[in-house]
Amino acid sequence: RGDSKDYDSETESVCPFCGVGCKVSLKVKDGKVKYVEGINGPANEGRLCVKGRFGFDYIHHPHRLTKPLIRRADAPPKGLNVDPGNLDTHFREATWDEALDLAAQGFKDLRAENPKTVAGFGSAKCTNEEAYLFQKFIRQGFGHNNVDHCTRLCHASSVTALIENIGSGGVTASFNDIKDADVAIVIGANPIENHPVAATFFKQFTKRGGKLIVMDPRGVGMRRFATEMLQFRPGADVAMLNAIMHVIVEEELYDSQYIHRWTENWEAEKEHLRQFSPEAMSEICGISPEQLRRVARIFANADAGMIFWGMGVSQHIHGTDNSRCLISLALMTGNVGRPGTGLHPLRGQNNVQGASDAGLIPMFLPDYQSVTSDEVRKSFTDIWGSGDFSAEKGLTVTEIVDEAYAGNIRGMYIMGENPAMSDPDADHARAAFANLDLMVVQDIFLTETANYADIILPASALYEKNGTVTNTNRQVQRVRPAVSPPGEAREDWSVTVELAKRIGLPWTYADVSEVYDEMARTMPSLDNITWERLETQTVTYPALDETDMGQSIVFGDGFPRAGGVAKFTPASVIAPDEAPDADYPMVMTTGRQLEHWHTGSMTRRSMVLDAVEPEANCSLNPKTLRAMGVEPGEMIRLTTRRGSIDIMARADRAVAEDMVFVPFAYVEAAANILTNPALDPYGKIPEFKFAAVRVEKIEAQ
Ligand code: SF4
Repeated sequence: RGDSKDYDSETESVCPFCGVGCKVSLKVKDGKVKYVEGINGPANEGRLCVKGRFGFDYIHHPHRLTKPLIRRADAPPKGLNVDPGNLDTHFREATWDEALDLAAQGFKDLRAENPKTVAGFGSAKCTNEEAYLFQKFIRQGFGHNNVDHCTRLCHASSVTALIENIGSGGVTASFNDIKDADVAIVIGANPIENHPVAATFFKQFTKRGGKLIVMDPRGVGMRRFATEMLQFRPGADVAMLNAIMHVIVEEELYDSQYIHRWTENWEAEKEHLRQFSPEAMSEICGISPEQLRRVARIFANADAGMIFWGMGVSQHIHGTDNSRCLISLALMTGNVGRPGTGLHPLRGQNNVQGASDAGLIPMFLPDYQSVTSDEVRKSFTDIWGSGDFSAEKGLTVTEIVDEAYAGNIRGMYIMGENPAMSDPDADHARAAFANLDLMVVQDIFLTETANYADIILPASALYEKNGTVTNTNRQVQRVRPAVSPPGEAREDWSVTVELAKRIGLPWTYADVSEVYDEMARTMPSLDNITWERLETQTVTYPALDETDMGQSIVFGDGFPRAGGVAKFTPASVIAPDEAPDADYPMVMTTGRQLEHWHTGSMTRRSMVLDAVEPEANCSLNPKTLRAMGVEPGEMIRLTTRRGSIDIMARADRAVAEDMVFVPFAYVEAAANILTNPALDPYGKIPEFKFAAVRVEKIEAQ
């Protein structure tokens, strides 16, 4: 940091990491970002966490891709075997024209044979405009919907349940609205590490007397601020939540007036909950009947309550059922649509809300308009000036990988995603990518996924981009380039446009604002939110008119479902896909750490963050380590039915004695080699949060 004299220019943008969407001011000197300050955005109010403040220098890292690359004809077989500091062994530099022509010709050849052999993964790290163009590229260019992104791996089940039961996939209130709540539940989330600035608002809420109920199989950091901490057994969410709702029904603590006016299917829910008494569920979820009853009374008796959840809820084969329970709990207590109430799945990536809104998902066009509707598709093809495309829902991330493994998907375009690290059962995903005939990867680094590419297109980091992003609060914000991309690297949107033209699409965009304007024409949620407004304002959607800053709290006057009412969907207890047994006696769960972001491609190249957390590690209870004869800092081996990794052990009392927590940012001990690809049948999200695992001490040689 320094005073106003030690930089040449300053640019306002948005932090590239989590869904909080903190606004930043980037101070630039000699063409490089020198430091970052938090500014007064509606979500962060000037605050930043360690990632936002110190995690910026990756954009100047020597590993940045600066020229298009083409795999050498005599390159070694595809595998995770490229040295990011020496790409010449596998790739040769090319001009943009050569690389784009080759990629386009490859896609055209596959399209001529069978367009369904091509699929695309876009990114929640890119802008709304880039997400919009990417889904359009696949739909208009190949006539089908095989396009998805990492929302499939984080909140797909939450969105499925929200659309099903309240008619919309976004949050019903911003996290900042906790200031008006009397009680808040935070379940399956670790905001102190994953949404740190949101966590500061949660802490302030407790300081002024708000009651915080934390529910998690790990004793996550928020427990220090909690009125009640429920450290339940992994995978027992439905049993615990149904028991709490059973008490609310039994003691008639529900809001009859609200239920009568704004919901349907209450009688079925009520009847269903009869079997879930706290006494019957206590053994399953590991929480005493007394505490379950106490929590039910605290939440139901409060005037205003909010519910926040994270991937501990969503990343299960019963992730949709978990979310259904949370929605039912809010509905039966009348906690939607008023100040201090609401449902809020804390979105992970900086633009996962926006990328999903922009249609980067296989079953929905922008604004969650169904691909199966003839009318909807026509409304898009009218604007796009092209013919119809498939009414069939496309393949999801994990289905695309399976089809690539089987040889049915043969060409992929991957923009800004790293599925070779982030997909479950990563060895299977890597084998699938090695199997492709054509893999075009557009990214800023040679990611683990780019190791398998045939053509690599060098792209831009967020601080080099112009466009918009949408945070967890539904707030649409402008990002602006503080510095130029290095070498010949280009903004992602312009690369997709060039590729589209070369496969014959009539795209004429000259500026990213034209993309926004077209996108806004297809998305009613962006009504009254013009590009011009976003030059100077952050606007929450929906906005009622061109002066409205947007509606932070929605659905006070009905839901966007038939009849304007929300729905109760009863959920039953479903066990995790694999149970611990004699061979794999413990439970492994995965997640992030404060300093590292997702697959580590950015934060492990940020000097300060990497210095704080330089090494792959996992956490176990100190008692577990003692029983194994392992000292903290020693190496252990984790083995599941998918594979094995060696990793350093840490002691952490927050982890239950039969569990191990593994961050997934480290390629040298990749957690996702171990994870279970079993899917939630509705949201099709893998069960990252539960795998049966064997933990062994590695004896010194
Ligand atoms: Fe960035 Fe999230 Fe930290 Fe804010 S809370 S600075 S958006 S990582």
